Amino acid sequence: MLPFKLIYSDAYYLPIGEHVFPAEKYKRIHDRLLARNIAEPKDFLTPEPATDQDILLVHKPEYVNKLRTGTLSPREQMELEIPYSKELVDAFWLAAGGSILAARQALADGVAFNIGGGFHHAFPDHGEGFCMIHDVAVAIRRMQRDDKIRTAMTVDCDVHQGNGTAAIFAGTRTASALLPSASASTLHPSAHDLSKRSPALPGKIRGAHAGEVFTISLHQHNNYPLWKPPSSIDVDLPDGIEDDDYLAWLDNALSSGLRQFEPDLLCYVAGADPYREDQLGGLALTIDGLKRRDELVFRVARAKNIPVMVTYAGGYAQNVEDTVTIHCNTVLGAKEVFAPKS
Ligand SMILES: [Zn+2]
Repeated sequence: MLPFKLIYSDAYYLPIGEHVFPAEKYKRIHDRLLARNIAEPKDFLTPEPATDQDILLVHKPEYVNKLRTGTLSPREQMELEIPYSKELVDAFWLAAGGSILAARQALADGVAFNIGGGFHHAFPDHGEGFCMIHDVAVAIRRMQRDDKIRTAMTVDCDVHQGNGTAAIFAGTRTASALLPSASASTLHPSAHDLSKRSPALPGKIRGAHAGEVFTISLHQHNNYPLWKPPSSIDVDLPDGIEDDDYLAWLDNALSSGLRQFEPDLLCYVAGADPYREDQLGGLALTIDGLKRRDELVFRVARAKNIPVMVTYAGGYAQNVEDTVTIHCNTVLGAKEVFAPKS
């Protein structure tokens, strides 16, 4: 039995038809975890859908109303990039409920997974990039409302920048702490060490302090979204970056963030799309490198006693089995790092 819970429902399936987003991945991950004896049936918890009240902690009433009544404009439907349906709305409400439950379980057990979620491109007033509802933000706001946490940190390792996350939590940044992005490369001295180590690496770290929610995003610079609203720390990675450089930047961003900020909860957005065979990504991580990435996040959180909730976000490998492997490995990584010390 795992020392933590996995939140999952067959109804996580997104009814979007033939699409680059492999909507069946959630069930495949669930089935693989069981088939390989990584998890047992009793490791899984079934979520309830979020309530409209929960969704409204993040999203604008006008937008929620449009989703509920099926009255998105053609432009809004286009931006979403997945076909609207009442069933799709239900699947997103359930994913948000799953992230709420994962956050609660993480606070109880030290770590928990939503075998879904991570819809980091959703904004308060619109959805885009396959993301209708920002489940992670909803979970953070719900935990804050319930007085279970005061602060949170998002660590977004999807290949695409967490634009929705950055926009949602931008308002919580304290104006006095904002740094001009031009000087942000001085944020962390080892950013210089790193550039000395690999001078050809044109990656860039930029950042500003946060209020109650600190947002970190590591992403490919030359990729969607074109407009990247500032996170607390953005690491703009060059095309084709490989395992070791990626891990150095991640280590750098985590230590910088955790020097500035003490979160009560860490929300890890474990996108599978930095993988070198991803159809929508241009980085070159290996499956092993992605597992090391997961372990790094878990080790850092465990060393500082910060509860971690995991969500899955994107993954568009040419072979969907690779995406499933990468996501299952995240559970394995947590199992290794969080195993009770005997
Ligand atoms: Zn992505």
